[in-house]
Amino acid sequence: MRVGIIGAGLGGLLTGAILASKGEEVEIFEKLPFPGGRFTSMPYRGYEVSTGALHMIPHGSRGPLAKLLRKAGADVEIVNSNPEAEILWDGEFENVTRKSFPFSDGLKLNLETLLLKLGRDRKLDEFSKSLSEKASRTLEAFLGWSFSVFPDQMRFSELMPIVEQTMKYRGPGVPVGGCRAVIDELVDIIESSGGKIHLRSEIRAIRPEGSVRIYGKDEREFDVLISNIGHRLTMKLAGREISTPPESRGVKYTIALKEPFIGHSGVLLTPGRKISGMNEVTNVDENLGERHMLQAHQPLRDGRTEEIAEGLRDLREILKGYEYEIIAVQSYRGDWPVNRVMAGKDTGCRTPFENVYVVGDGAKGKDIEVDGIALGVENLLEELYD
Ligand code: FAD
Repeated sequence: MRVGIIGAGLGGLLTGAILASKGEEVEIFEKLPFPGGRFTSMPYRGYEVSTGALHMIPHGSRGPLAKLLRKAGADVEIVNSNPEAEILWDGEFENVTRKSFPFSDGLKLNLETLLLKLGRDRKLDEFSKSLSEKASRTLEAFLGWSFSVFPDQMRFSELMPIVEQTMKYRGPGVPVGGCRAVIDELVDIIESSGGKIHLRSEIRAIRPEGSVRIYGKDEREFDVLISNIGHRLTMKLAGREISTPPESRGVKYTIALKEPFIGHSGVLLTPGRKISGMNEVTNVDENLGERHMLQAHQPLRDGRTEEIAEGLRDLREILKGYEYEIIAVQSYRGDWPVNRVMAGKDTGCRTPFENVYVVGDGAKGKDIEVDGIALGVENLLEELYD
């Protein structure tokens, strides 16, 4: 089968590696001069500053991405976080367990889950109002950190499948070498299986009639086309305008520290602030930075970049007394968002064209971020081979 792939992001490369290792003829076209899209990093001022992701895999070595990487033959070491998460509440670090919150919060969660089974579904901000302040703020920080959304942008029914995945596969992990180590492995697998990756190669149009013709630097023909650029942009290449679910936007801060601030490999949620959480992945792999590298994430409503000033104020308050330097402030929206489709709202890998599919964070399965991308790739493999 001749397979053309538009985009060498994680979705495109993961698909390409699996198909190439099955013996398919794979060619990938990437408009940028490097592979990896929003899941890689570049050395900048002594730190591996990522193009997007916070060097974290939501379910670590146990989740869907790790499983698919093993299936593709990728040799990536993923260190599971320990502890998985803490919260910074009233100036103290606290482990997150059920006991961290009033007993009544647990009862309300059970009741809401039951009511969902009986057909009542509501937005998370409505549910959140019924909780204690600590639980409500922690939920908001979790949504901001994990999905870059606010509680009024997600429904209970959209969150629950992801919570179930988290119960099953547990919390995050960090790949040794960061996101780029994952990308380098996938590129190696594709190239050693005879696949080709063309960089600086933007695709400007597609024509899906029988076989699929694509138009970039040259005109090419494939049996199947897999797009890593989301449904809206894919259809635009075919000359069709469609509307898709909303994207999620945010800002990432990369901070160099003389002394560690978090001191472990997990997440520190920061309830009650514009910044929703932080990690310090140099605690897993010291080669990711000259000193300690703290990364903080803040969701941005409607891409309001003026909120960055408030995020910077949070950082000054949180890091008071520490010697630190902000290495990069990166804002994500438009064609380079946090999520092309907000978590829980993805619409699957099929398109109106029989031989054109979408992978990546415009077509996630029911899970978080790159683990959702891996489930989306599995869905595509079922479509192609079952
Ligand atoms: P992309 O990475 O966007 O890849 C698409 C590729 O297609 C790009 O390289 C692009 O250049 C190329 N392209 C576009 N148009 C064309 C064209 N016409 N022709 C050729 N090439 C084209 N996820 C996690 O799991 N963990 C995290 O810690 C995490 N943190 C995040 C923090 C931030 C600030 C951001 C922005 C994202 C984060 N994510 C995280 C999400 C994760 O980075 C993305 O879900 C993932 O990288 C998306 O991969 P993708 O393959 O779908 O898309």
